[in-house]
Amino acid sequence: MAARYDVIVIGAGISGMYQLHRLRGLAVSVRVFEAGDGVGGTWYWNRYPGARFDSESWTYGYSFSDEILRDWEWSEHFAAQPETLRYCNFVADKFDLRRDIEFGCRIKAAVYDEAAGEWEIESEDGRRARARFLITAIGPLSAPTMPTIPGVESFRGEAYHTGRWPHEPVSFVGKRVAVIGTGATAVQAITEIAKTVGHLTVFQRTPNWCAPLHNSTIDAATQARIKATYPEIFARCRESFGCFIHDADPRKALEVSPEEREAFFAKLYREPGFGIWMGNFRDVLINEEANATITEFMRRKIRERVKDPVVAEKLIPTNHGFGTRRVPLESGYYEVYNQPNVRLVDLRETPIERITPAGVKTTDAEYEADMLIYATGFDAITGAFDRIDIRGGGGRRLREKWAEGPRTYLGLQIEGFPNLFTLVGPHNAATFCNIPRCIEQNVDWVTALIAYMRDRGHTRVEPTPEAERDWLEHVHDTGRRMLFTQVDSWMMGINSNVVGKDKRTFIVYAGGAPKYREKCDAVAAGGYVGFTFR
Ligand code: NAP
Repeated sequence: MAARYDVIVIGAGISGMYQLHRLRGLAVSVRVFEAGDGVGGTWYWNRYPGARFDSESWTYGYSFSDEILRDWEWSEHFAAQPETLRYCNFVADKFDLRRDIEFGCRIKAAVYDEAAGEWEIESEDGRRARARFLITAIGPLSAPTMPTIPGVESFRGEAYHTGRWPHEPVSFVGKRVAVIGTGATAVQAITEIAKTVGHLTVFQRTPNWCAPLHNSTIDAATQARIKATYPEIFARCRESFGCFIHDADPRKALEVSPEEREAFFAKLYREPGFGIWMGNFRDVLINEEANATITEFMRRKIRERVKDPVVAEKLIPTNHGFGTRRVPLESGYYEVYNQPNVRLVDLRETPIERITPAGVKTTDAEYEADMLIYATGFDAITGAFDRIDIRGGGGRRLREKWAEGPRTYLGLQIEGFPNLFTLVGPHNAATFCNIPRCIEQNVDWVTALIAYMRDRGHTRVEPTPEAERDWLEHVHDTGRRMLFTQVDSWMMGINSNVVGKDKRTFIVYAGGAPKYREKCDAVAAGGYVGFTFR
């Protein structure tokens, strides 16, 4: 017998926790199903050394509760994973969230029962539950991918994927450690591991443009100032493209003098956080010539910081300009390559042939290792959906509907999948955002829609095919001018380790959070234009 609720939420990360809290306010019955044994989502799973966010801590926490804002103190401007996980647990305690969450419960299927007007979910261990509404809060980067390299199973040493890092401490002292990957995760992990490792080998396929994080602790005076100005901080985030405190400079890179440009880049390089990416001249992410100016600046920085010129050249990206892939923020990453016990292997010159029992075999050598770390990323945004067998009206599979790329309305609902809401799903501004800021918007919007339906006695909501088609067109329009759409990365749905994810696909919304919010608000204000109710 399946347990029955009004609403089922899948996932107890930042979005699932807040969704639960808001639904309690509607006095509906809610059950949250979470694969992990604790709350926190991304912060529960990504325990790899060096993990921390690139958002200013005081812009990342929930904004909805004055009590949380008053009682919680971030210790650093960019908090590390253990602190953020503690924060999630603090929030769960504060609102007594755990009593409505079922932990250790990975959902494998969700099927819409048209006759009953209900979703039925099933977990891997056979638990079933039913509800009128199903809300996925499964995160954009929660489906880790292992490389499809032969021999992975044969390795005899310790092996970890960064997104499934063990809960027990892992020591690198005196060990030969190999890391595969050089994305944002690897850049953090490598920098931390290099501090204690015996010998480190980094296997790099595509270098990224990394910029300094400039993290620091928050002193008492700053803490007081932050607490006193939370409304202003969140208001500033609301108005910026990605809900960061950084927003594009009104000037264009090409309309200022070379000296002024250089001085501005140097200033951004010295400052903490994503300013150099989000707060740069307004044309650097859309105009190739403008982009070339910051790219050249970053190239020089790598050459200045890495002593061996051959290694420096290997670390310089050649197939994309600065900011057209997710910019990893670093705290001494380039200097790691000046250590005598660190070696960089360029997989463009010598690709990996296989993993062997002793280590990694490339086309020119076998690199022995005691530990292999896969920092090989995620099947982004749609991957977590693909891993659940989601079937809507008439048994239609979501995986099939999205075979050529996602189709949604507002990135929150899908035609043919009534009463299903996809928080931080594809084509939703949250995927390109200081994510809790956009999560709160998503959750508030979905909660308001459920309240609207309850007040009017509606039991079923679904977008029209026309609304979905128009949204898709809008998503493509907003992305077209952005340089990142011309580059391979997870932001364009590329993952070399997943069958069928080899073509660039618009999976994110690139219109910016303010425009997205405006669109969502207009839909709601017009009586949920583009939706049909029953
Ligand atoms: P990622 O950016 O997708 O990087 C994966 C890395 O593994 C890439 O360097 C990739 O090379 C390499 N790789 C994958 N398969 C491989 C193979 N078969 N052989 C050799 N190399 C292979 O993943 P990520 O670093 O985990 O980051 C994902 C996202 O998570 C980030 O972009 C960011 O949005 C988020 N994140 C955020 C933070 C933060 O807030 N500070 C920290 C970490 C992650 P190619 O590039 O050649 O494919």
